[in-house]
Amino acid sequence: MLHSVSPVGILRSCFKEKFAIPRQPSLAPAARGVLELLPPYDTGEAVAGLEQVSHVWLLFLFHQALEDKPRLRVRPPRLGGNRTLGVFATRATHRPNGIGQSVVRLDGVEPGRLHLSGIDLLDGTPVLDIKPYVPYADIVEQAHNAIADAPPAPIAVEWSAAALAQAGEHARRLGEPLVELIEQCLAQDPRPAYQRPPAERRYGARLWDVDVHWHYPEPQRIRVLEVVPG
Ligand code: SAM
Repeated sequence: MLHSVSPVGILRSCFKEKFAIPRQPSLAPAARGVLELLPPYDTGEAVAGLEQVSHVWLLFLFHQALEDKPRLRVRPPRLGGNRTLGVFATRATHRPNGIGQSVVRLDGVEPGRLHLSGIDLLDGTPVLDIKPYVPYADIVEQAHNAIADAPPAPIAVEWSAAALAQAGEHARRLGEPLVELIEQCLAQDPRPAYQRPPAERRYGARLWDVDVHWHYPEPQRIRVLEVVPG
């Protein structure tokens, strides 16, 4: 059976590229975005009552990971990229129908716009549906997952004095918690698990409209080098 779906909105996110986005929601509470609803959901009627809810489920399209050929096994980055698992045992982005799901914090509701935080979604992500989080039904006290039982251990993030001053300035200009966002995202250690880069190798990612550059002076320590206009 073929069934077509169409987005109810498009997410405007702090994440302008896939690299350095946390692997799940809530890992970076300072990651914010606005979900702009599309007609006919943009008048306020479709979100009436939603202001009584603290978190929502987003069902969305991994629009930058869509593929024609089905994958039955995937290599989750969390397992070092060298072990495969069945696609249904993972939350990998390459999946049948390209559908993702995230629980995110709902910070504000306006007609046609939802203000969100703790997001793990790329800018421009098409959102297919929004559902209120229902704690009594969605919290499963005895749940376990031996593959991903706890969030990844954070690694240390330190700043050069220049980078911290630059981030502070951009944070004021953007009106966003940029210092916290950078620290929370980099503490997740965005590099693939198998990479042990030399200290001189620089990494970069775009958050909002700035490029953040960092390196690894030691394997488990990040130093932010600069935060410059993108
Ligand atoms: N919480 C969701 C889930 O479980 O379905 C997403 C988990 S997935 C492992 C998270 C990663 O998806 C992020 O680190 C980011 O690199 C990637 N991502 C986010 N939005 C995307 C998009 N629209 N297209 C492709 N990849 C995306």
